[in-house]
Amino acid sequence: TAPMALARPSPNALWEMDRRHSLHPWTNFGPFEREGSLVISRGEGCYLWDAEGRQYLDAVGGLWCTNIGLGRKEMAQAIAEQAERLAFSNTFVDVTNDPSARLALRLAELAPGDLNRVMFTTGGSTAVDTAVRTVAYYQTCMGRPEKTDIVARDYSYHGSTYLAQSVGKRPGDRVPEFRYKEEGIHHLSVPNPYRRPEGMSEAAFCDALVAEFEALIARVGADRIGGFIAEPIQASGGVIVPPEGYLRRIWEVCQRHDILFIADEVVTSFGRLGHWFASWDLFGVQPDMICTAKGLTSGYVPLGALILSDRMWEAMAADGSRWFTAGFTYSGHPVSCAAGLKNIDIMEREGLLAHADRVGGYFEARMAALADLPLIGDVRGRRLMLCVESVADKATKAVLPDEANESKRISNAAEAMGLLVRPMGHLNVMSPPLVITEAQVDFIAETLERAIVQVTDELVREGFRLG
Ligand code: PLP
Repeated sequence: TAPMALARPSPNALWEMDRRHSLHPWTNFGPFEREGSLVISRGEGCYLWDAEGRQYLDAVGGLWCTNIGLGRKEMAQAIAEQAERLAFSNTFVDVTNDPSARLALRLAELAPGDLNRVMFTTGGSTAVDTAVRTVAYYQTCMGRPEKTDIVARDYSYHGSTYLAQSVGKRPGDRVPEFRYKEEGIHHLSVPNPYRRPEGMSEAAFCDALVAEFEALIARVGADRIGGFIAEPIQASGGVIVPPEGYLRRIWEVCQRHDILFIADEVVTSFGRLGHWFASWDLFGVQPDMICTAKGLTSGYVPLGALILSDRMWEAMAADGSRWFTAGFTYSGHPVSCAAGLKNIDIMEREGLLAHADRVGGYFEARMAALADLPLIGDVRGRRLMLCVESVADKATKAVLPDEANESKRISNAAEAMGLLVRPMGHLNVMSPPLVITEAQVDFIAETLERAIVQVTDELVREGFRLG
């Protein structure tokens, strides 16, 4: 008889082995012990199938990442061919490989302005971690070894290394059991127009946010602040589109004080907003460093990249004797880079940036209508990066108590109807593959509406007061 490990396990056996042996990212231990995880077994385009064969439209897009859609044969082939030709070769200083060199060039071509130097990483967190470390490196090369503090924002998410978690600050992530680097890291207010102070215009709110940054610089000293990091649209912190002009003005402040601007485009690059990179094309900001990952390979294999400016490179390389002691075994992994190249080919050939822009506009319009539902206080985001926010009272914007658990219940109800949306706090978040069609957008809008109506009725029956 075949050993257990070789026999094809039943869906229930898979669920159970995972429940007994996996430690998932962001695990809530109690519910996990009871409920385990949904086992996904196959994907094609925007669809997933679980181990029981049930089909779902994946409006989560993996995790903001399956941009070209799943199940692409030519992508699988590119990966297989590279694995056969050269599965691995390190890129530590005196070695490189064809896909790594070619993808570095392609990223330099696609990134805005003089962002022409690429360090490949294993994902988004390691790109952010390297970027934050590089602030001190660059400033030291510039003769400013004290200028190493980092400014980030509340509700930001930058990844899960010690440093990436420390610059990030989503309230729920700051559990007391873990530790965070506090020294030399400052957080500004979240630029969330929906939750701006009562009675303040969006323009005045923007002025106040910029003034807060300037006041921080005045207090800490421009000679101590070396870098600013921001997601152009905050993703996991709540799909927060900042007020008009905010990023550009923050960038101008950075330039005045020689503060490096790091754009964390792990989510916003590779077409999610209809551009290769959103910083310049959408927000008129020329960052000193961009972090990317996710859509870079559409999730087929892990890869991230830190792209930095010629100006920074020249300063760091100037005296010709320094060592840049950062990087990873899998930096420039040939298979990952081959996937990155094929991903760009597919996006170009199929015009996926223009498609994402067009269908994303339709998605915005369809979702905007959900704001009429009594439970929905805000619908926000841009193109293929949207969310709905539930409130108990639209006028006061008060949220429901934790026991209502409404966003998880909405996503459960949608799941039962064949749609995956991501519950996050009081939000349900969507970031579908760029290949999504208008008919699929209709399905998302109609199904999510049914799920919200169903949960609203349940909440009312259970006695929750909705304004
Ligand atoms: N930065 C942003 C904006 C992200 O959304 C994420 C992941 O969701 C990361 C960084 C971390 O990327 P990774 O999980 O690939 O390390």
